[in-house]
Amino acid sequence: MPGCEVTFVRTCTTIIRIGGRVVVTDPWFSMRMRFLPALVGPGVPLERVPVPEIVLCSHLHADHFEPAAIRRLAGPETVVVGPPGTAVALQGLGIERIVEMEPGGPAEIAGLTVIPCRVPHTFPPPEENGYVVAGGGFTLFFGGDGAYGAVYAEVGQRHEVDVALLPVGGSLVFGRRTVMGPAQAVQAAVDLGAKALIPLHPGGEWLPVPPLSWHPGRCRHAEAEARRRGLDLRVHVLQRGGTAVLP
Ligand SMILES: [Zn+2]
Repeated sequence: MPGCEVTFVRTCTTIIRIGGRVVVTDPWFSMRMRFLPALVGPGVPLERVPVPEIVLCSHLHADHFEPAAIRRLAGPETVVVGPPGTAVALQGLGIERIVEMEPGGPAEIAGLTVIPCRVPHTFPPPEENGYVVAGGGFTLFFGGDGAYGAVYAEVGQRHEVDVALLPVGGSLVFGRRTVMGPAQAVQAAVDLGAKALIPLHPGGEWLPVPPLSWHPGRCRHAEAEARRRGLDLRVHVLQRGGTAVLP
């Protein structure tokens, strides 16, 4: 019985099986990102995603939070977890179970332990949550598309993290890095004390428009960086639709 399975859909959209539950992170299945066309589609079509116990949302940017997809995914028992503002963003869609989380103590949700932390991203807010998710004796960290910061070492001191799901897109917005790049993702995984890293948010999914946004990151760069540093960190590079099985 594996500890955890992670299927990479696109961007930060994943399907996670942990502790006998299904968690879908940052759902975005559309072929549009606001007014921009998406350059690649989801690796798993929305209609093939199992009904999750939890939809876990890091923040409310359009390439991470698609209300129509959440409505389609959510069954009567599904809990949508997100930062402040999630309930308003889903208003009128008939979704009953919404939990807005601020950094703080753990919550038991649908049989899993979910612990939010604040990760740096854009300014001004929306705020972005990272999450520790534990179940079935396995612990993962989901970092959305956060930037690098002190928070990962803080989380690593408090929790034993088996696998870190971290972005590598390295978005530069007017010269400010709003998403960590591959080398920073490897460092954040080290800070977290993670045994494995699954790179997400590789960039290039929708039109990068320099200098508004530029995405130099690629998942293979994280793998190469971990090798270059001689780290005992397994980097699982997933194609869209690919699955990593973690012991
Ligand atoms: Zn974002």
